Amino acid sequence: MKKDKLSLNGWIAEAEAQGKSMQEFLLEYNSKELECSEEELLSKMEAMLVVIEDSIKFGLTGVRSHSGLTGGDAKRLLEASEQKQFNNILGDKAKDAMVYAMAVSEANAAMGRIVAAPTAGASGVLPGVFFALKKHYGLSSKVLAEGLVVAGGIGLVIADRASLAGATGGCQAECGSAAAMAAGAAVSMLGGTPAQVGHAVSIVFKNVLGLVCDPVAGLVEVPCIKRNGACALQALAAAELALAGISSFIPADEAIDAMKSVGDLLPCALKETAGGGMASSPTALAWAKKYFAKE
Ligand code: SF4
Repeated sequence: MKKDKLSLNGWIAEAEAQGKSMQEFLLEYNSKELECSEEELLSKMEAMLVVIEDSIKFGLTGVRSHSGLTGGDAKRLLEASEQKQFNNILGDKAKDAMVYAMAVSEANAAMGRIVAAPTAGASGVLPGVFFALKKHYGLSSKVLAEGLVVAGGIGLVIADRASLAGATGGCQAECGSAAAMAAGAAVSMLGGTPAQVGHAVSIVFKNVLGLVCDPVAGLVEVPCIKRNGACALQALAAAELALAGISSFIPADEAIDAMKSVGDLLPCALKETAGGGMASSPTALAWAKKYFAKE
């Protein structure tokens, strides 16, 4: 018998009917599914937050990737922001989200230890949003751990209805999904309703739909690192809209399904094969030629 796909809108309706927040609902749901107590689940999430924080610190040492193509930009942005003449265009919360997201993405390119949530390539987005909110709202480890449970729940639905892999759905499925997970979690951590979580997820997908996967030389560096930074900003923007009471006309499940349909339509050249997009620009091709000759 064909199994029904997981439904974020279904969970939202259940949570609202039970008068629960999204984190309360998903904590209970996940602990049942994983056959562990809510306390055990939260302590696993807190352990992951420690790894995430360490990966931010490692990235901020200015690490360079093994290929030599990237590195040091998170540290550069942080140091620039500490200068008096810095143009703080984004404001501190968004700037910090970008710094942390790029730090983790650079740590990943340098083969550092990261939490691949939802994937290694998109591992900077959640840390960017979570640790910027921690810094600026003083969120506790418990609240962040609950936020990770919400992010995980959203990721589960996306994986079931669509995909989290750039090779299957393009970068919209990877960094885009990470942004949707982070946006929903941000809404939840800042006290939003389950319905607002769904709106934030849907708003992100509207804005990342069609994002292709085009890593230069097939390495998860260019454009991946800056894209992690930018997707952290997408998440914050969607969370802000949803928390302001702005709704998405398209429900979250349908937005996820739309992302899948766009992913299915993308040609192979734009799904992690380095056959198109930034990867096929003259500069990228020239660098790749030199890199592979050396390797
Ligand atoms: S461009 Fe491709 S490899 Fe890079 S982060 Fe996006 S999905 Fe991953």
